Amino acid sequence: MALIVKKFGGSSLATPEHIKSIAKKVVEDKQKNNSIVVVVSASGDTTDNLISLAKKMHPNPPHREMDMLVSTGEIVSSALMAMAIDNLGEQAISLTGPQIGIMTDSIHTKASIRKVKTERITCELKKGKIVVVAGFQGKDDQDEITTLGRGGSDTTAIALAIALKADLCEIFTDVEGIYTTDPRIVPDAHKIKTISYDEMLEMASSGAQVMQSRSIELASKYKLALHVRSSFNKKEGTIIMEEQESMEKVFVRGIVAAKDEARVTIHDIPNKPGVAAYIFGELGKEKINVDMIIQSSDHQGKSDISFTVNETSLLQTLGVMGKAKEHLKAKRVSSNSNIGKIAVVGVGMKTNAGIAGKMFEALARENINIEMITTSEIRISCAIRRDLCDKAIKALHKEFELGK
Ligand code: ADP
Ligand code: ASP
Ligand code: MG
Repeated sequence: MALIVKKFGGSSLATPEHIKSIAKKVVEDKQKNNSIVVVVSASGDTTDNLISLAKKMHPNPPHREMDMLVSTGEIVSSALMAMAIDNLGEQAISLTGPQIGIMTDSIHTKASIRKVKTERITCELKKGKIVVVAGFQGKDDQDEITTLGRGGSDTTAIALAIALKADLCEIFTDVEGIYTTDPRIVPDAHKIKTISYDEMLEMASSGAQVMQSRSIELASKYKLALHVRSSFNKKEGTIIMEEQESMEKVFVRGIVAAKDEARVTIHDIPNKPGVAAYIFGELGKEKINVDMIIQSSDHQGKSDISFTVNETSLLQTLGVMGKAKEHLKAKRVSSNSNIGKIAVVGVGMKTNAGIAGKMFEALARENINIEMITTSEIRISCAIRRDLCDKAIKALHKEFELGK
């Protein structure tokens, strides 16, 4: 008897018919003598709709109230799924993150899991029930509801698979696996058979929406292999696993873009030790994730610092930078939200030179200006104009011959 954790994303649960058809497949698997935990996301665009509803009440809604609101989407899906399973003659029980005891820190809207209690789930599984868990949520020490950041149901599923020592963790979504780039942008993108945790992590944190990057960090830490596959057919998907020697033969595994970046610049700050530490320390206190950073060369004892943040953090960032401007007696703070980020990822880069040159040449041929650059051992990222991201993805996918 195997214990299987199956996660279904929102796009797979968009209508009651979708939910019923997934319930049928879950029941089939249960009847093969398996124990099943199902993790569900909010259906379709529910989370986006709840967020826009909140914005109608308040331009910058209190984060605690945001969590109260958006966590409801997953609860609705879990109850509907449990009903659909029950209707097929199998016993099921839906549980919220707080009910199970998914314990998190108190950083509302992007909480991290601290501990996962398993007693309740194990008890329900022993009774022969299919346990349906509302993904994306937990509670902190004060019993406040928290959520795990966009795409957080992936992290719920992986945390549960680890805590329950599951035999298998399957991530079902609306594409057939991990592709060389977003198949919605490049139709001839190629499905990848196996990908290392490091490559997937770089792709996820560079904007490949298909897996939440935190979920991959967790899977990697506990060496939990993941099978990412389609909700709509039984085809083999992609296995995310430890790096194998053969993976290094591929120079570039994938191309990724994030179209929701913003650049912030603080102009004419004193060019002396401690200034950068102050700015990024203040941003860190507010848990704002900064990505690319550049500092201009010295002009009469002054310099400028530019950095990118996710556009959703722009308002909060400008608040922090307004105070930094006063404190440092800077000239001004400016921002630009027409920024995207494009990245080329592959473990083969460790041993193969020349990828950066090839990337920059391909962008130059398309007349795309590179505004900032960062690299890791297995990734090269460039900030470019947001409206040029799709063009850049197509050009790079072709340049590195990643098509079918
Ligand atoms: P779910 O609702 O199942 O969590 P998401 O919308 O979060 O699904 O993620 C799936 C989407 O990720 C796909 O529809 C696809 O367009 C997008 N995506 C972006 N990059 C990739 C990639 N490299 N491989 C596969 N899908 C990708
Ligand atoms: N519903 C949440 C979101 O849209 C969590 C998830 O889908 O994993 O981000
Ligand atoms: Mg998702």
